[in-house]
Amino acid sequence: MSRTVYVNGDYLPEEEATISIFDRGFLMADGVYEVTSVLGGKLIDFEGHAARLARSLAELDMVAPISHEDLLAAHRELVAKNDIDNGLVYLQVTRGSAGDRDFAFPDPETVPGTVVMFTQSKPDLLESAVATTGIRVISVPDLRWHRRDIKTVQLLYPSMGKMAAKAAGAGDAWFVEDGKVTEGTSNNAYIVKGSKIVTRELSNDILHGITRSAVLRYAAEAQMEVEERAFTISEAQSADEAFVTSATTFVTPVIEVDGAALGDGTPGPVAKRLRELYIEESLKTAV
Ligand code: PMP
Repeated sequence: MSRTVYVNGDYLPEEEATISIFDRGFLMADGVYEVTSVLGGKLIDFEGHAARLARSLAELDMVAPISHEDLLAAHRELVAKNDIDNGLVYLQVTRGSAGDRDFAFPDPETVPGTVVMFTQSKPDLLESAVATTGIRVISVPDLRWHRRDIKTVQLLYPSMGKMAAKAAGAGDAWFVEDGKVTEGTSNNAYIVKGSKIVTRELSNDILHGITRSAVLRYAAEAQMEVEERAFTISEAQSADEAFVTSATTFVTPVIEVDGAALGDGTPGPVAKRLRELYIEESLKTAV
C-alpha cells in the first residue's frame, strides 16, 4: 500500500513526492536527519529528537525550515494518516536547492531548506528477534569525518560497516579509532563489567544518542553504576556483557565481539533490565 509522505508542508502519496535534482541533500549530503520510533501510535523521545535536530541545524548554520510545533504536528499527522501502530518516522532537512550546483552555501533568506518525512511500519519493533538472541559485532576502523555529533545524512561509511558485518555473518560493526571503540554503525556501544556500565563519553567523536541519554538517566535512577569513558575491543571481549542503544532498537544485547563470546554467550541481565526499563519509562512520556 502506498504511504502518505510529507514534503515541505504537503502530504502526498509517495509516488507523487518529488525533490529537485539540485537539492544539496542529493548533491552534497548537505542535510541532517532524525528517526523517532512509534509505539502504540505514540512518538518515543520526541522532545530529545527535536532538540538534537535543532542542534544539528545550528552546527551547520542551517535555518530551521519548520517550527517545533509544526514538526510535532506533522509527525503525528503522518503516524495517523499511515495508521502506524509500531514503527518509525524518518525526518530529513536539507539546505535545499539553489537551482544549480555550487560548493558555497546559498543564502537561507532566498533558498529555504527542504523538509521530508515518511513513516515505516514495523509491527515487530518491540519483539524483534535480536532483542532475545542478541547480536554479534565485528570491529572496523572508524574512517568517518570528525563531526559525528552532527546527525548528517552522510551514511556511506556506516553502510559499508554494515556490509562488512553482514559479510562476516555478524549483526553490526563497532568503529574503532586510536585503539578505542567510538560507537556502532547506527547505535551507541556499551560494555558491562561486574555491575558497572561503561560507555564512551560525549564529544565530537560520537553521535549524542537520544536513547543513550535516556538509558543512562534510567540506569542512574535505578542506582546502577555508569562510567563514561572509552574502552578497547579487548576490554569488550573480556566484559561480562555488552549492548547497543538506538531509537529503533532500544537496548539490544551484544553476545560476541570479534569472535569472542561474552560471558556465557547469551544476552546478559543488565542489558535485559535496561531494555525493560527504557521501554517502560519512555512509554510514559510518549506523545
Ligand atoms: N550513533 C550513530 C552513529 C547512529 O547513527 C545512531 C542512530 N541514529 C546512534 C548512535 C543512536 O542514536 P539515537 O539513540 O538517538 O537513535
